[in-house]
Amino acid sequence: MESGHWILVGLAAAAVLKYVGSCAWWPFAPCWCCSGTGTHARRDGAVWRACRMCTGTGRRVRIGRTIYNRLSGR
Ligand SMILES: [Zn+2]
Repeated sequence: MESGHWILVGLAAAAVLKYVGSCAWWPFAPCWCCSGTGTHARRDGAVWRACRMCTGTGRRVRIGRTIYNRLSGR
């Protein structure tokens, strides 16, 4: 079953490359902490503060983009 093993490795590598490529093209995802709003509001919505995880931007850099940046030397 050696050849089958390498097909699986190839498929996994292709999936990773596809994911990293997707992250190069679409580098950001909504912040998981504030769901992309960039703020955390009190339950009544009258007052709010900036999200600390994304410093109020509402976005986070995808893990694949970080990998892509490493690979491209940035
Ligand atoms: Zn956030």
